[in-house]
Amino acid sequence: MLEIKNLHASIAGKEILKGIDLTVNDGEIHAIMGPNGSGKSTLSAVITGNPLYTVTEGTATFNGKDLLAMKPDERACEGIFLSFQYPVEIPGVSMTNFMKAAVNAKRKYQGLEPLKAPEFMKLMKEKRQLVELDSKLTHRSVNEGFSGGEKKRNEIFQMAMLDPQLSILDETDSGLDVDAMRIVGEGVNKLFTPKKSIIVITHYERLLDMIKPSIVHVLYNGRIVRTDGPELAKEIEKRGYDWIKEEADKKY
Ligand code: ADP
Ligand code: MG
Ligand code: MG
Repeated sequence: MLEIKNLHASIAGKEILKGIDLTVNDGEIHAIMGPNGSGKSTLSAVITGNPLYTVTEGTATFNGKDLLAMKPDERACEGIFLSFQYPVEIPGVSMTNFMKAAVNAKRKYQGLEPLKAPEFMKLMKEKRQLVELDSKLTHRSVNEGFSGGEKKRNEIFQMAMLDPQLSILDETDSGLDVDAMRIVGEGVNKLFTPKKSIIVITHYERLLDMIKPSIVHVLYNGRIVRTDGPELAKEIEKRGYDWIKEEADKKY
């Protein structure tokens, strides 16, 4: 599904990603862990096409298409979804109108008619119930005055509405209490099918008890310095990152 080769990217002239190789196949859940400032959010921003970052080297394809040649909205319509570390508030734009625009933009891209109002409301209700998002929130402006947990839950709701093929969850667990983390974990699991893939970026092993990755990567200093099975997350929880940093610092 996603194939990244030797990806280098910089922001404000500073190289952040220094040669990333990453292949994600259908039905795989990958975890990306790593110390703060390693480039995890940068990688998710580059995959989704954030214009602040410049790709200086390397390639990325999504279902065989050149990802780097696509605009951010095309990438979304192709089925890539990013849940932000810090969701933005959009005062004056109701959740309903926001979701209607997003869902119908994707349908248009796919050559489908926009959803009729009753169908759309039915979809909203179904997905809202799936992630246990309070109906009061869908009547408000996007994220405006939402608590941290409500914002995160709303991200999973948006993900459910857009039905992406590849979901990238960037530190969706930061700022979540245990109950909200359960909702996110369960919501993501309900949306997961063998045709879909997830990249979950996290500091902690806790979320990975619910969203179970088959492959765990450690990103450090702009490089994936270690890739292993789920036991790697457990080892990091026990030993921290120092041993991985030491190995990587010797190598690079
Ligand atoms: P992570 O998500 O792993 O914590 P980030 O991708 O957010 O790491 O950041 C990687 C590096 O890029 C950090 O050293 C950070 O300071 C730097 N960085 C991020 N955004 C900017 C920016 N706008 N200008 C300059 N440096 C930035
Ligand atoms: Mg960070
Ligand atoms: Mg980050």
